[in-house]
Amino acid sequence: MLELQENLQAVRQRIRAAEQACGRPEDSVRLVAVSKTQPAAVLRAAYDLGQREFGENYLQEAMEKQDLLADLDIVWHFIGPIQSNKTRLLAERFDWVHSIDRLKIAQRLNDQRPPGRAPLNVCIQVNIGGEPTKSGVTPAAVAELAQAVAALPRLRLRGLMAIPAPTADEREQRAAFRRLRELLEGLGMPGLDTLSMGMSDDLEAAVAEGTTLVRVGTAIFGRRPPAKG
Ligand SMILES: *Cc1c(COP(=O)(O)O)cnc(C)c1O
Repeated sequence: MLELQENLQAVRQRIRAAEQACGRPEDSVRLVAVSKTQPAAVLRAAYDLGQREFGENYLQEAMEKQDLLADLDIVWHFIGPIQSNKTRLLAERFDWVHSIDRLKIAQRLNDQRPPGRAPLNVCIQVNIGGEPTKSGVTPAAVAELAQAVAALPRLRLRGLMAIPAPTADEREQRAAFRRLRELLEGLGMPGLDTLSMGMSDDLEAAVAEGTTLVRVGTAIFGRRPPAKG
């Protein structure tokens, strides 16, 4: 618990220092705590330390935690790959979906967003390095998809998300994040206010390139057990 508190403070401090280093205002970057594989009790502990936004990758696992934490005022972000037969639950249970990579998924989320709720916040995931095995749309396909998603009334398109190939070279980190920022700016669409980029190992580079939302897991919760499906 003490370790969680220290980690969370350290991550907030890293974000603040990075904001200061490039002259950005304090609190211009929102912190989503990526809690995949962590039990509900750990999320509750982070909540008690002031963390409100959590990111999950696996729907089934997320739903179990959502049920256990229904008494808390959490903003839930879905950041994992989307199967089209799971869109209804995503539309019902999340506040944000970061990983839109095709129009069919967006249309289903739009149709399935419950009428009583605010439009679902979404980002389009971009395969910024063009790696064949990675999910996300190609940079060349972003503009067309963004126009189509923006026209869906039950979704609110907020911006772009990327998971660049890991590298320890800060210039390469920044180059990838810069490409995502330039893509967003190039869309020239009003209302897009979100760059979802930056994780435990590269959040400083992301802040320097204008991220508005970092997704941080390991630096808050410690190393995860190997990923499950
Ligand atoms: C796991 C994950 C993160 C967090 O990564 P860390 O390196 O643990 O900070 C961020 N974004 C996505 C999409 C993830 O799957």
